[in-house]
Amino acid sequence: MKFGTKVIHAGIEPDPSTGAVMTPIFQTSTYAQEAPGKHKGYEYARTQNPTRSALEANLAALENGNAAVCFSSGLAAMDAIIRLLNPGDEVLSTNDLYGGSYRQLVRVHQRYGIESRFVSMDDPEKLAQAISERTRMLWIETPTNPMLNIIDIEAVCRVAREKGILTCVDNTFASPYLQNPLDLGADLVTHSATKYLGGHSDVVHGAVIVRDEQLASQLRFLQNAVGAVPGPQDCFLILRGIKTLHLRVERACENAVRVAAFLQSHPKVKKVYYPGLPEHPGHAIAQKQMRHFGAMVSFDLQEDTFEQASKVLSATQLFTLAESLGGVESLIGHPATMTHASIPREERIKVGLTDSLIRLSLGVEDVEDLIDDDLRAALD
Ligand SMILES: *Cc1c(COP(=O)(O)O)cnc(C)c1O
Repeated sequence: MKFGTKVIHAGIEPDPSTGAVMTPIFQTSTYAQEAPGKHKGYEYARTQNPTRSALEANLAALENGNAAVCFSSGLAAMDAIIRLLNPGDEVLSTNDLYGGSYRQLVRVHQRYGIESRFVSMDDPEKLAQAISERTRMLWIETPTNPMLNIIDIEAVCRVAREKGILTCVDNTFASPYLQNPLDLGADLVTHSATKYLGGHSDVVHGAVIVRDEQLASQLRFLQNAVGAVPGPQDCFLILRGIKTLHLRVERACENAVRVAAFLQSHPKVKKVYYPGLPEHPGHAIAQKQMRHFGAMVSFDLQEDTFEQASKVLSATQLFTLAESLGGVESLIGHPATMTHASIPREERIKVGLTDSLIRLSLGVEDVEDLIDDDLRAALD
């Protein structure tokens, strides 16, 4: 099945009891048993819910995995993944990652003895040297947030596999439509489904997708034992969002290409970060591992101050000033004070996350309006 068919059909059957075409929202906490232990596969809704099961089957298909396990948020999904490790183990992560992921690694898991180090993964040889005896997992974001660096998933997974280390790719920024890390050698893929999968900025949700049955059963155990499960209504909303994932992401990527070109030509813009630009250092790798170059664009202003950035951020009308990304509406954000405020200033400056860096999440609006009415006016 091709992607545009999978989003509609994979794991989705009309409801057997009524024929309802849309997956029903099974708003129940428990299920009647015929006799003790005799049931239809559903006992208690933390453990199983049919709406969630449909979504999990669909997500597994979208990422070419065998199993998906859903959680109440992207960070709850990450928490379950890190709980696969033991005290004394170490996570080696990309050094430019979502602020909430950084915070969870450093301020939650570290307290329980799981250490984290943050390194550049541009060079697989340097990465191999950075791996220590205690390293048990590589944590990768690509494109990275908010600098939009590209990491060669296949090359990094090869290094990890040689050393017997698990690789997890946070695929939130690309979405399964653009990139499928399991095909490139990753062991786990995770999503903040809050973003492109949901796509309408109306739900918080997370998922992990794997091929290995042992990893799947460990994650299912954690899903039930820790209990950070999504409600059925949230699962329904993600299922509904996914049906148009390919159409939305396709259009958003087209908009991103046009906006990146416009920003590059504007005198007040110092630098544009977008993997679709031929001069972007990760352009060739992105071309190899992604279907399109994504719908996130970051840029720096000539005058690198918070005040200048603030003027632009307050002046746009169509681009809403807000955290998050991946919805149908275009958003504008200031990583230094918003998504990445939990990362110390020295750390973020090191990776190029300056005080004037602005991040755009392109939506599916008409791009002429986004450029001419909004960005041009705000920059001028
Ligand atoms: C938003 C986001 C998360 C966290 O997901 P939540 O659903 O907000 O918990 C993790 N990784 C990336 C790349 C994100 O953008």
